[in-house]
Amino acid sequence: MKIRTRFAPSPTGFMHVGNLRTALYEYLTAKHEGGTFVLRIEDTDRERYVEGATQVIYDTMKLAGLEHDEGPDIGGEFGPYVQSERLSMYKPYAEQLVEQGKAYRCFCTKERLEALKENAPEGTGYDRHCRDLSPEEIQKNLDAGMPYVIRQKMPLTGSTSYHDLVYGDITFPNEDLDDQVLIKTDGFPTYNFANVIDDHTMGITHVVRGSEYLSSTPKYNLLYEAFGWEIPTYIHLPLIMGKSVDEEGNEVISKLSKRHGSTGFMDLVNEGYLPEAIINYIALLGWAPKDTREIFSLPELIEAFDINGISKSPAVFDYDKLSWVNQEHIKAMSDEEFLEHAKPFYDEAGVDPSCYALLAELLKPRIAKFTEITEKLSFIKEYGDFELGLFEHKKSKSTLESSKQMLEKAIPVLEDLDWDRDAITEAMKTLAESLEVKNSVVMWPVRIAAAGVAVTPGGCAEVMLLLGKEESLKRIKYAYSRL
Ligand code: GLU
Repeated sequence: MKIRTRFAPSPTGFMHVGNLRTALYEYLTAKHEGGTFVLRIEDTDRERYVEGATQVIYDTMKLAGLEHDEGPDIGGEFGPYVQSERLSMYKPYAEQLVEQGKAYRCFCTKERLEALKENAPEGTGYDRHCRDLSPEEIQKNLDAGMPYVIRQKMPLTGSTSYHDLVYGDITFPNEDLDDQVLIKTDGFPTYNFANVIDDHTMGITHVVRGSEYLSSTPKYNLLYEAFGWEIPTYIHLPLIMGKSVDEEGNEVISKLSKRHGSTGFMDLVNEGYLPEAIINYIALLGWAPKDTREIFSLPELIEAFDINGISKSPAVFDYDKLSWVNQEHIKAMSDEEFLEHAKPFYDEAGVDPSCYALLAELLKPRIAKFTEITEKLSFIKEYGDFELGLFEHKKSKSTLESSKQMLEKAIPVLEDLDWDRDAITEAMKTLAESLEVKNSVVMWPVRIAAAGVAVTPGGCAEVMLLLGKEESLKRIKYAYSRL
């Protein structure tokens, strides 16, 4: 049997990391077994529909690298893949159930249902008022043109059980199952009905979704059984939680939301996380490989993924861990790839192309996100009357007095130099030797004078290469004059 999975998002806005994890696990479940990954857009809930949200789904999937094999944009033999284009399919199935006595028409008015909701205790559903209408009553209502919904007729006794690959055997007493609506008064299916019809008619073998669907699954299974269809394999995923600190300083774990940080895929990308690092990190939110490995590319995830590695304990989204994963992906990049990502930030900082190789070497091990480049290289464009106290540094044995002396000696040496890394480094060492001081006594003030900030990627030679000879000397002379 060839595995077929589907990602079935509703176009309701942005793509939350929870949705993306579902998509990823659907994708990996299929791809690990050489199966087919289907994209289906569930847009029948018009109240939640957001204009443009379908495009966000396409863009996100593309950027994340989760390529589908069948879907609205590329077609496939089980189309259409947009629920609103399948509308005519659902009602005949519901009518089939009505004929078999497994579903019924409900003529209850909105007012009656609202009153029922208000007066009934929390958690009780529809009171099954129309379940046993006589054929004459039904005909009379139909003749009068009364609007109706079609409801599923749940068994009133016994229980329904199923097996979930993550949560194990699950049993619900049937008396807890609501006679849910399958077809609404406007003829549209509910999500609860459409997903069963779609999954069956699209040949879906494995359904991966959030654990909030665990309690609806018995209802779906009763539908599969009513039609005599094979029930798919279920893989429910644990919640994704976030960590925060309350007013008393205690750590609080709650469902991941905006207050923990960005939760949208695109937002994370805009904050400087790489799509492949986000995917890598999200893969680990609820799944663990057999060994302790943590860094994966998407093809490596496909290879390593195993449904048995999914855990049912809630996963906690840790932004520090995501940064670490991002950093590892950056470290593993070739210089060319690194440049591709860094280029916009270099341009903004005013980096000369001759320094690209040098910067790859300096920055690769030092940044967790490319956005950090802006701050690290801000000294190239910004230079002013910095605090002279920066020249004092105990460990380098640098004081205001020594700095002044060292700059005075360094200026003519630098003026005579070919501007290259080894030449600058050698010259500064030779100078220190001839003055009988530690290298740092020369290098510290030269770097501070050139950069005007305490922390720079690289030492004095690298900073001066980034600035160029003219600018470096101009700054060093100016700093000397200030001293
Ligand atoms: N459209 C549903 C959602 O976005 C899909 C749930 C499912 O995977 O069946 O939550």
